[in-house]
Amino acid sequence: MLVNGAVITGKGAAKVGRTPEEIEQIRNILRGRFDDINAEYEEAVAENQKLRLVEIGDAAGDDQADSGSKTAERDAATSLLRTLLDRRTQAEHAMARLDDGTYGNCEGCSNPIPWERLEVFPSATTCVHCKQNRERRAG
Ligand SMILES: [Zn+2]
Repeated sequence: MLVNGAVITGKGAAKVGRTPEEIEQIRNILRGRFDDINAEYEEAVAENQKLRLVEIGDAAGDDQADSGSKTAERDAATSLLRTLLDRRTQAEHAMARLDDGTYGNCEGCSNPIPWERLEVFPSATTCVHCKQNRERRAG
């Protein structure tokens, strides 16, 4: 099969486009991440439900301090769930971008995301600069 792709002669930061092998490799990494996060998420959901059941079970006998620490525990569990869900969505999103060929380009400024960043954060869909801008706006 003839792959209609540009021949890549540059190296390092100047490199544009990826070989099918590289895309396959990235896809595997992302899928692995997705599966890991998913497993962790399901575990956290189960843990969260257990926590709630215990809570319902002995809510009657609680004093103030006890219910306070339980609220903290539940808050921590909830924020873990949210983080995992975010990361799962992010990995899913990166895979979708891999499919439509936009992976590796920043969603904010559409400049190529440095390869070194993608190596560390394979599910990153924005460059460091746009990520910081986004977080500033969200926070
Ligand atoms: Zn950007």
